[in-house]
Amino acid sequence: MARFFDPHIHMYSRTTDDYVAMAKAGIEVVVQPSFWLGSPRTQVGTFEDYWEHMITFETKRAKDFGIEHFVCISVNPKEATIRPLATDAIEPMKQKYLDRPNVVAIGELGYNLINDLEEEVFLKQMEIAASKDMLMMVHLPHTNKVEAMRRIEKILQNHHYNREKILIDHNTEETIEKTLKLGLWAGLSVYPVTKLSPERATKIIQKHGSDHIMINSAADWGVSNPLSVPLTAQKMKSEGVSSEEIEKATLYNAYDFYKQSPRFTWKP
Ligand SMILES: [Zn+2]
Repeated sequence: MARFFDPHIHMYSRTTDDYVAMAKAGIEVVVQPSFWLGSPRTQVGTFEDYWEHMITFETKRAKDFGIEHFVCISVNPKEATIRPLATDAIEPMKQKYLDRPNVVAIGELGYNLINDLEEEVFLKQMEIAASKDMLMMVHLPHTNKVEAMRRIEKILQNHHYNREKILIDHNTEETIEKTLKLGLWAGLSVYPVTKLSPERATKIIQKHGSDHIMINSAADWGVSNPLSVPLTAQKMKSEGVSSEEIEKATLYNAYDFYKQSPRFTWKP
């Protein structure tokens, strides 16, 4: 049976039925990045409880269904503009959560509305990641992705971050070339609304090959599909993409990125 890795899924907002279906479809390992709560946070403590929940409870819940679960910790871009809460949360994040056993990256970072408040929190967290030699998982906004990429390119010109350790997610036809050209890893989120369909993701792989590209579901509170990775593999197969390219995009590239973290202990 084909084996899969979903490198971006918010299991916090999914059900046990999802875990059953994912395990049955061959998903063996997932990475869960920090998301927004779904409603506004009012205290730093809610960040801490959320991070603790993902690191401990959710990792065990996944394991009960035979799925290995790793975590990216951050103040999510969607919550970066709530001040002083967002900046106040960064210190406890650094002190108590980033060095935990299954925390493999800082993320999601990046932009939501694209403004200076978001960028301040983005940069602060990039600096922490670089100082700890951690991986960075960066989120492109739903709209105006090109402008977000322009800002990211500028940041990379001014700071010497190791680009092999940066993953840019939610790429589309508009941004994929730039992400790859900058020497970064690229995520393609296959999601029923606002993101890519399996067809569009397949076309991107057909055009650009699968080097440095990984498919994910980005499944969350919204109408989303935790089986997007196997579904897209199926679509690629029916469109004649080689098994080698499919395996790279749905398992091995995500593995090659995350295995750079000493805390990513899963092996294919
Ligand atoms: Zn996400």
